[in-house]
Amino acid sequence: MRIRTQIIPVNPHHPEEEAIAFAALVIRSGKLVAFPTETVYGLGANAFDSEAVLRIFKAKGRPSADPLIVHLASKDDLRLVTKGAPEIAWKLAEKFWPGPLTLVLPKSGQIPLEITAGLNTVAVRVPAHPVALALLKKCQLPIAAPSANRFGHTSPTTAQHVYDDLAGEIDLILDGGATIIGVESTVLDITKHPPRILRPGGVTLEQLTAILGEVGYTPTPALNDQLGAFRSPGQLEKHYAPRAKLIFFTNPDVEKAVESMISMARQAKDRHQQVGIMLMEEDRPFFEELAAVLFSLGEGKDPAVAAARLYDGMRALDQARVDLILVRDFGGQGIGLAIRDRLKRAASQIVT
Ligand code: AMP
Ligand code: MG
Repeated sequence: MRIRTQIIPVNPHHPEEEAIAFAALVIRSGKLVAFPTETVYGLGANAFDSEAVLRIFKAKGRPSADPLIVHLASKDDLRLVTKGAPEIAWKLAEKFWPGPLTLVLPKSGQIPLEITAGLNTVAVRVPAHPVALALLKKCQLPIAAPSANRFGHTSPTTAQHVYDDLAGEIDLILDGGATIIGVESTVLDITKHPPRILRPGGVTLEQLTAILGEVGYTPTPALNDQLGAFRSPGQLEKHYAPRAKLIFFTNPDVEKAVESMISMARQAKDRHQQVGIMLMEEDRPFFEELAAVLFSLGEGKDPAVAAARLYDGMRALDQARVDLILVRDFGGQGIGLAIRDRLKRAASQIVT
């Protein structure tokens, strides 16, 4: 059964009381609200209500084995959702919350197993977005919220992206404009020694290493390398993917990577395929005469801009009906690591 999906615009810096109060009522009544965070849009439900949580899985078409992140209004609420948060959790919370760091911790009895996919750990964070924070405070409840997209599809960075994926499935979307960071939070398992990054994201490996000393991270396995692919529940191989076939060029030799992209684009043209390129501005002169659809990810030296535009680029090129999307690596520094992870997971083919 399809339901009417309401969209309410909110000021992203000073969200209107009335809109937040209404959204909090919707959450408290067991329904679903999509809202902006600093990373991507989340699809929220009352984390203490397992029926509401099940609605999230149904709306997204998400398998029940893929656990959800629980969002908190403040680090003090850690006591509600976890069983004895260790000292390191408080230290990281102090340093990075509100912000794009999700901590995996032993769960409390109050957190339903539907959220954690049966695990005895729960993933939690405090988001750094005025709308998300206002909603959490008004609800006075933790909110379980995965990204507000159809399962496996590109994550949403605007309210329109959410509407395109979930209209008819959810009750309300708070439209607070485009999100700032554009890729998801870093998921850090602190039940392990040393702590392990399960998913790179908005808080960088370098930032975590500076605080923790040692941090474990196994880069996303290359495509078709099925061994070891299942590191964290829900970290499935093909994910974050556009409809078009995405080809990711990872050769660190820029000239070679660009040459491969041009040659791939020409071959596709010969097969009468429409090509989209998510480009770094410095590469524009090489691609301009290819009759491809170009989407700028900004300068190669500024991966934060690329992160903010990445998912919009995939969706925009899908809307332009391209058959192929070509993009090259932004390097493994800073948020470049998260971009690389998402592009590997979204890719149908990786050219090394
Ligand atoms: P999303 O909410 O769509 O950003 O996805 C959240 C991701 O967090 C999941 O796909 C999991 O990989 C990870 N996650 C959530 N809970 C846990 C947990 N208890 N243990 C390990 N990973 C988790
Ligand atoms: Mg997701």
